Amino acid sequence: MRLRLLPTGRDLVCREAVELVTDYLEGALSRSARRRFERHLAGCPHCTEYLAQIEATIQLAGRVTPGDLTPEMQDDFIDLYRRWQAEQE
Ligand SMILES: [Zn+2]
Repeated sequence: MRLRLLPTGRDLVCREAVELVTDYLEGALSRSARRRFERHLAGCPHCTEYLAQIEATIQLAGRVTPGDLTPEMQDDFIDLYRRWQAEQE
């Protein structure tokens, strides 16, 4: 199984969490990566929402396929997140 390596010693940022969503749903994260992902989600409504959208997509599609998820959905989310950040400044 492919395990994604993560930088250690700090919390995930949203961009990293977004990139991990599909691996998380596929069970492809290491235990520590999974824990960090879940910790990020616990404090981040944006990524929680994103994960919910992905899960809804998977339910419609029946499974995760590389074509479903996309760079586009990730890019959309990252754009959205940038706007949230800009609004907070
Ligand atoms: Zn986040």
